[in-house]
Amino acid sequence: MFNIPQGKFIVFGKIFWPQDFFIFGLTMVTFIFFIILFTAAFGRLFCGWACPQTNFMEMMFRKVEFMVLGSANEQKALKQAPWTGKKITKVAVKHVLFFLLSFIIANFFLAYVIGIDDLEKIITEPLSGHLAGLTSILIFSGVFYGVYAFFREQACTVVCPYGRLQSVLLDKNSMIVAYDYNRGEPRGIQKKNQPAELEFGDCIDCFQCVRVCPTGIDIRNGVQMECVGCTACIDACNDVMDKVHKPRGLIRYASENSIATGEPLHYTPRMKMYTGLCLVVLTALSALLFTRKDINVTVMRTPGQLFQERGADSVSNLYNIKVMNKTNKDIPLTIKLVNIDGNVQVVGKPYVHVVKEGQGSGSFFIVLPAKDIHNRKTEVKLDLYEGDNKILTETTSFLGPVQ
Ligand code: SF4
Ligand code: SF4
Repeated sequence: MFNIPQGKFIVFGKIFWPQDFFIFGLTMVTFIFFIILFTAAFGRLFCGWACPQTNFMEMMFRKVEFMVLGSANEQKALKQAPWTGKKITKVAVKHVLFFLLSFIIANFFLAYVIGIDDLEKIITEPLSGHLAGLTSILIFSGVFYGVYAFFREQACTVVCPYGRLQSVLLDKNSMIVAYDYNRGEPRGIQKKNQPAELEFGDCIDCFQCVRVCPTGIDIRNGVQMECVGCTACIDACNDVMDKVHKPRGLIRYASENSIATGEPLHYTPRMKMYTGLCLVVLTALSALLFTRKDINVTVMRTPGQLFQERGADSVSNLYNIKVMNKTNKDIPLTIKLVNIDGNVQVVGKPYVHVVKEGQGSGSFFIVLPAKDIHNRKTEVKLDLYEGDNKILTETTSFLGPVQ
């Protein structure tokens, strides 16, 4: 969950607050290093296989489009046909289904922001109490609908910063979707009026790879920023190769160098350097994550208070305690003195109650025998317990009368 309004992030069950922002920042840096390494080695594999934009587009919206409007050729014919009742019905059904899918995606998206429990309340409780939530869902639905119905692959070629970085991150050894020009050129097929000695490569210039390309490029022109690595052209060309009884793989995953020289893919020094950087940031991140505490405690003497004399033989100090509970269970916190005889009296209850994923605060007295106070300031150590389980130790100071 990425609850930006509340500044609360939950990643794989671990709760992160603004105080953990440096961990979140380092996670982002690690993520970026891995993207750089991954792109240098495997090109735009992420775009074609993992990016939500491509997956939603190819696995949902385009499938719906094919289901309602028919194959690519039928869609082209329908586009050019006059606006009859049949065409209006088909196009309207497509857009209604697109909006419904966008609405579902928007609900899931909002669940990542406000949490599934709050989303459930918006869905099940009277809408009058959740107008802001409903408006957010409708805005998100509208944005998703606009992207998938009209903007489509332009999101990859015009908006996506990762796409724009390709030209910097890729080199001639990166694995990309590539056309084997050595094998394919000169492209074409023998025609009756051409001289018999004219020799053609394996590409029969059928344009199937161009027709299926969602971004409308011709992969035979070399690596292009618009290629999202969806491999539709590989499948289309393999089908063509099967039909003309030629080996598959005229378009395939390969590096520019491997196409030019026929050598296999290399693990280059550049990739090794990126791997080293990734390991460094990953080690730092792991160290931060493993040393991070699930509970943060601040204990301070109450401002403006010195000490209180309790009868003839005891002295007390009043303290405020603030606890941040990053776990998903309530914690009743008890406090015990460690390094000195005396007792702790929590104001109100015998323990400080800290709700799950939240903060708790309270006040307590430390009462010490006057005979044990020899200095104006005495260091006291407090153990904080959840039941019999010691969570952490805090150190604070105790003010006593000057001897
Ligand atoms: S699908 Fe294959 S054979 Fe047809 S034009 Fe593209 S590369 Fe050439
Ligand atoms: S060139 Fe091929 S892999 Fe690249 S976007 Fe077009 S169809 Fe997909």
